[in-house]
Amino acid sequence: MRLFKEYHLERLMSLKDKHAEVSHILDFLYHTELFKKEMYAQIKDVHWERHIKKIYHLFDVCDAHGSPSIRETLQELKKLSKEELIRKMERFLKERSAPDEERFIFITFLNPFLSKLSESMDIKKDQWLKNTCPVCGFKPSVSYISDTEEIEGARYLSCVLCNTAWLYNRTKCVKCGNHEDDAFEYYYDERERYALLQVCKKCNTYIKIIDMRIDGLAVPEFDDIATLSLDLWAKEKGFIKFEKNIIGL
Ligand SMILES: [Zn+2]
Ligand SMILES: [Zn+2]
Repeated sequence: MRLFKEYHLERLMSLKDKHAEVSHILDFLYHTELFKKEMYAQIKDVHWERHIKKIYHLFDVCDAHGSPSIRETLQELKKLSKEELIRKMERFLKERSAPDEERFIFITFLNPFLSKLSESMDIKKDQWLKNTCPVCGFKPSVSYISDTEEIEGARYLSCVLCNTAWLYNRTKCVKCGNHEDDAFEYYYDERERYALLQVCKKCNTYIKIIDMRIDGLAVPEFDDIATLSLDLWAKEKGFIKFEKNIIGL
């Protein structure tokens, strides 16, 4: 479970300084993270429909800091009534997919509510062991390894929509369940060994692993974006990502 902590914003800033090639994206995420943090502090319930008018604040943030394609999508969304926006987001939650720009906006808006929902639920995150989120049913977009009191080098999957993280077998494919010896290839950039691609030899699917034992200050969702060059490389190689991250890659 990732709560909205101050050091997350600091992490975004330091990643931005280090990764010039994605600094514009990280800068945009900084502003949307501020939006999420404020929303999270304000809301007392998880009924996002009741707070739909707050989405116009998010639209302003995206208008000021987003890419041209985000701003284009905004023009379309702004034409919709509040009821139509709610219906569109309900459909997104049901189908678990939408065009990348809409997906970004909807996940950003819904995230504080679903994070609250996640916190209010009694999830046994070390017993779930499935490849979809126990709270919202989405697929995890990133995973990370950290030592816990019970398990050394535990691997967690992390949900892009509600920030829930749950334990998953470290050497089991998230897509096909392959867990034979020698089931994977691992790829990483020599300069950043804490970010690995775990590619299944059987189904060609991959998920990124952020090794928190190497960099304990990492915030998996952000470090995933900062190491986007790995995903671009994987795309060229023809590997299939299990679930896109928030920016659709
Ligand atoms: Zn979730
Ligand atoms: Zn597989």
